[in-house]
Amino acid sequence: MKYIGAHVSAAGGVFNAPKNAHALGATAFAVFTKNQRQWNSKPLDEETIKQFKQLCKEYGYLPEMILPHDSYLINLGHPETENLEKSRAAFIDEMQRCQQLGLDRLNFHPGSHLKKISETESLARIAESINIALDAVPGVIAVLENTAGQGSNLGFRFEQLAEIIEQVKDKSRVGVCIDTCHVFTAGYDLRTVEACDKTFEEFDSIVGFSYLKGMHLNDSKKPFESRKDRHESLGLGEIGIVPFQYIMQDSRFDGIPLVLETPDDTKWAEEIALLKSFVK
Ligand SMILES: [Zn+2]
Ligand SMILES: [Zn+2]
Repeated sequence: MKYIGAHVSAAGGVFNAPKNAHALGATAFAVFTKNQRQWNSKPLDEETIKQFKQLCKEYGYLPEMILPHDSYLINLGHPETENLEKSRAAFIDEMQRCQQLGLDRLNFHPGSHLKKISETESLARIAESINIALDAVPGVIAVLENTAGQGSNLGFRFEQLAEIIEQVKDKSRVGVCIDTCHVFTAGYDLRTVEACDKTFEEFDSIVGFSYLKGMHLNDSKKPFESRKDRHESLGLGEIGIVPFQYIMQDSRFDGIPLVLETPDDTKWAEEIALLKSFVK
């Protein structure tokens, strides 16, 4: 079964997300459980939690169809102690919010070394941050997103994701989300069926499909290997439509949230319908 949706708005309250997703004809969605550009948000109140759970039930969204995303400010591989501590505390708060909402996974960008520590050291800090968070909050899987490798962002090579996972103690609660735009600009081709075969075989041998807990389906405004993170609507960018057809027809991508983060939200309903039409 394919779960297909988009990163929907939570304006007015996180309980609006399932409603917004349902209006698009989505069978999955991604959401921020707090303002993604602020460090602090007020805690979720009982009423919000109740309404969110109620609406998810009403519209048929199970935890495995929902991929919450953390704040962009968090850097779990931060080179400086004070900022690392701040990120770790904020990440635990995000994990707790997911748990309160009955969600089982949290998607985040691994972290950045900011050119102040080595890649290896920053990856070790990310793994340690995950271990701390998993100890603090039960029941939620930490889902590492591959990045485009812009600036000093880590997680743009499958080997880096594997290096983090290797150091996470509870392997049952760490996962990966592949963003098609990021993977492409990081240098893994997706433009043909053969290229998709090769990229996903490489992912499987280095990380493993058992860790795949979600996908971000985006075309790219920027060219192959550009290491730039600029999403485009499906089929209108440098990638083209091939990998989206490929993913919809491949059972390795069953049972996980497959969500659009494409820039034109007026196209989402149409894009979701297109993706559904690709499923055999
Ligand atoms: Zn993404
Ligand atoms: Zn992106």
